[in-house]
Amino acid sequence: MKWTKFNQTIRSLAPYRQKQLFELLFNNLLDKWDQATNIPAVLKKELNENCPIETVGTLQKSSDKQSFKALITLEDNEKIETVLMQSRKGRNTVCLSSQVGCTMNCAYCATGGMGFKRNLTELEMAEQLLFWKKFLKEKNKHVDNVVFMGMGEPFANYDNFIKAVEIINDKKYFNIGARKISVSTCGIIDGIKKLSREPKQINLAISLHASNDKLRSEIMPINKEASIKKILLAVDNYIEKTNRKVMFEYLLLSGINDEDEHAEELILLMDKPLYVINLVTYNPTGKFKRSSKFQTTKFRNILETAGLNVTQRHSFGSDIDAACGQLAGK
Ligand code: SF4
Repeated sequence: MKWTKFNQTIRSLAPYRQKQLFELLFNNLLDKWDQATNIPAVLKKELNENCPIETVGTLQKSSDKQSFKALITLEDNEKIETVLMQSRKGRNTVCLSSQVGCTMNCAYCATGGMGFKRNLTELEMAEQLLFWKKFLKEKNKHVDNVVFMGMGEPFANYDNFIKAVEIINDKKYFNIGARKISVSTCGIIDGIKKLSREPKQINLAISLHASNDKLRSEIMPINKEASIKKILLAVDNYIEKTNRKVMFEYLLLSGINDEDEHAEELILLMDKPLYVINLVTYNPTGKFKRSSKFQTTKFRNILETAGLNVTQRHSFGSDIDAACGQLAGK
């Protein structure tokens, strides 16, 4: 969508009329402004001319038919990727990007390798969800969960991210419950603090991926300013205010962070009732190797035997580069 033109066109309209247009877009899922029955003909004409309803996207489907990736071209021709994951139980989770590229440069991530272009606006984030909502509607299905885990670091674009959450949660627009929305950060302390003060109780995940600072700094440069200790302090503060569980994502990299000693170190860090460790299968982006099944199971057993809360994420769509860490706007 040409959101700049759209914003210019609606700028002089009364607030109720502006809300009505968003409702037509995000709830009624109009394909053309002409389909609207409750707005004046002159406004329809203006909208048709300036900002027709269209998302320029190409679709790819994974061989297991469980995930889809869309490459969306923005109004300035920049490209972003968004992913739909369908669980075997039929739940649909949409993964949104928050930036074109990323400044964080995590070693395991394809997005980090493409550099940073710009932040996405809240409407560009909402448009990704709109794309999937329309896609699923044709199959009589709907979106169950939304995760901000695509391209970019959401907390580096906090204001637009939280405005997108408002749109997604708004009963008149997408109407997706706050508890069905999750955000993942590589460790932006300020963002964790801000989120703890938000009235909306969305889920927080931290990309941890290492059991000590030396290792984490090697694979995640952000750790030089946001050490594990600082992150955990901010997380504990978040838990104190919200009483909500926090998910720690741990990508298992063969020979790097998946040895028994790393599991032992993790036990010391993660032994808190509302901490959950999510072991994630690595999807090759060139630099590292995925942990073997044997070592993954062993690692998990060590954590579970120590009484930690552990889950393991099924990896979706690695054959279409739609899996975690593989999005690069290709
Ligand atoms: S993992 Fe996330 S924060 Fe790190 S470079 Fe990739 S997109 Fe950025």
